[in-house]
Amino acid sequence: MEYLSTRNAQLRKSAAEAIVMGLARDGGLYTPVSFPQLPDEMLRELCAMDYPQRAAWVMKQFLEEFSQEELRDFTTRAYAVPGKFDNAAVAPVVRRDESTAVLELWHGPTCAFKDMALQMLPYLLSASLRKTGEKKTVCILVATSGDTGKAALEGFRDVEQTKILVFYPKDGVSKIQQLQMTTQEGANVGVESVVGNFDDTQNGVKRIFSDESIRKTLDDRGYFLSSANSINWGRILPQVVYYISAYCDLLNQGSIQMGQQINFCVPTGNFGDILAGYFAKCMGLPVKKLICASNSNNVLTDFLHTGVYDRNRPFYHTTSPSMDILISSNLERLLYLLSDSDEEVRGYMQSLSDQGRYEVSETLKQKLQAQFACGYSDDNRAARAIQEQFEQGYLMDPHTAVAWSVLEDYRAASGDDTFTVVLSTANPYKFCSSVLDALNVTEQAEGTEILSQMEQVTGVKAPAPLASLAGKPIRFDGVCQKQEMEQVVLEFLK
Ligand SMILES: *Cc1c(COP(=O)(O)O)cnc(C)c1O
Repeated sequence: MEYLSTRNAQLRKSAAEAIVMGLARDGGLYTPVSFPQLPDEMLRELCAMDYPQRAAWVMKQFLEEFSQEELRDFTTRAYAVPGKFDNAAVAPVVRRDESTAVLELWHGPTCAFKDMALQMLPYLLSASLRKTGEKKTVCILVATSGDTGKAALEGFRDVEQTKILVFYPKDGVSKIQQLQMTTQEGANVGVESVVGNFDDTQNGVKRIFSDESIRKTLDDRGYFLSSANSINWGRILPQVVYYISAYCDLLNQGSIQMGQQINFCVPTGNFGDILAGYFAKCMGLPVKKLICASNSNNVLTDFLHTGVYDRNRPFYHTTSPSMDILISSNLERLLYLLSDSDEEVRGYMQSLSDQGRYEVSETLKQKLQAQFACGYSDDNRAARAIQEQFEQGYLMDPHTAVAWSVLEDYRAASGDDTFTVVLSTANPYKFCSSVLDALNVTEQAEGTEILSQMEQVTGVKAPAPLASLAGKPIRFDGVCQKQEMEQVVLEFLK
């Protein structure tokens, strides 16, 4: 299986090369040249397997130069080592009513869906380094607004031939998220807070990536920089697995029949998660609609309705911060696959960088609308969903609640009663304050005390990785100015 750049279809790389490089030199995203097929007999075989086995089979279809044994070893270490995922199913499917189920993607060590890919990526990356003959140590640089940083730290801790340094905005993450990062264990990890907001932090990291003199200095020291962002193929691929796995679980539960088409409703930010669902569909998984759910930063809703992508709009801080994004990078892969034209994609991306907007052709718009439905939900609407669903016995986080509300609106407007799986992307304990607000609890406890308060209010137990935060020593209390970030990197990679 080869991978092409969305901006130059002639440029071909192996999977290992694509994973090591992350982004193509021309700025494009590596995308498989074709999709391996998943026949019904194979789907039946997958039904009898556990999650690590399913994951190894699915990924093998895209990773020729990796052996089945190698991948089995990686998926076992990523998903089945005791203490990593707190649910034997890894990504359990919870049936809610006649035609709806929730796919819980937050049973990993950091309680958010980023674990599904970031527990796997380090194994794929270090094996890819070996396969491509790369001898230098890779340093993963991350700017995070919360979830990605912790999931990347936990995934890369003590992985051979890798180091990881995470920057977060000093006053831009929740208390729980900050504690999760500052107490991180591992010999190859670093965490630093930056005085400023997320944009300052992200701009700093981008500056470092494009700094030639830093690149040379690090090269001399035996290091090179890479990213754990969802532009990397090694982050998208592990996400294809849970769509297929969810279908198997629904078959096993008797919720659906073999071949029956289902919908998936996905809370979306960078378009990585929902794109993985589209890839599963390209493999032949019986999917009818992929429903793209946004919060008030509804650039994707407008795009799917009108064909105009326009990032020139106000930016809102919402209660679902991991979806507060105006440039959904992974959309580029979809545009390539549906247009089958690198030239067309280059034009759109040029226009996005020059004017902050582009308009796709009528043909492309119709293709998009045939595959995707969309909608958005503001904070109030999401809060109402949290409260209503809690009253019916299910506690969900604000990101999941956005998807839940969008599904309700979609069903009311379209009359589509297809069985639908809502992707649940965070444990509600990661966002205690917003969840308690939704449940009308106005007097809220400080710091980690809020976890036990929420246990009392909801009767749902806090997940162990968050409950144990209170007793952990702080390992990283460094604070830097945004112009000092280069220095921090050079110190870290001495
Ligand atoms: C990252 C994230 C999302 C958005 O996923 P994308 O792949 O960026 O679309 C949704 N919910 C949570 C909790 C996340 O951490």
